Amino acid sequence: MNLNELYQEVILDHGRKPRNFRLLPMATHTAEGHNPLCGDQIHLMLSVRNGTIEEATFDGCGCAISTASASLMTEAIKGQKVEDAEVLFRQFQEAIVANGDTEPLGVLECLIGVKEYPTRVKCATLAWHALRAALESEEKSATISTETGEVIPHA
Ligand code: ZN
Repeated sequence: MNLNELYQEVILDHGRKPRNFRLLPMATHTAEGHNPLCGDQIHLMLSVRNGTIEEATFDGCGCAISTASASLMTEAIKGQKVEDAEVLFRQFQEAIVANGDTEPLGVLECLIGVKEYPTRVKCATLAWHALRAALESEEKSATISTETGEVIPHA
């Protein structure tokens, strides 16, 4: 099995059996992510305490790539400091649009392969945009649309 096959296995596995796919009643930050190009819709929920993301869960419905991405992301950010999660967001974002060498991202690397398919990049980054919207919003919840990149805080 080569690396690409391994990465595909990881995506399929997380797409079929997403981790942290549940409601988080104690959420302190939430965001809706919507990718109209593909129809992906995710609802990200975070529990942040003392600057640490203690829990990260999601629900919603989307394609295998957006689901796998949200699953891998929630695993990656759980237990992280908010600022470390923001660094990870930037590194992931850079890796998926860049052509040159970028920071190693561990298991998240399996999603970087989608940069060969520009229409799928928004599927892979949807959860990450929702993460940023949730963390940056002053309000308890926010909506992010990948179409406009605009964050719409909820009342
Ligand atoms: Zn999608």
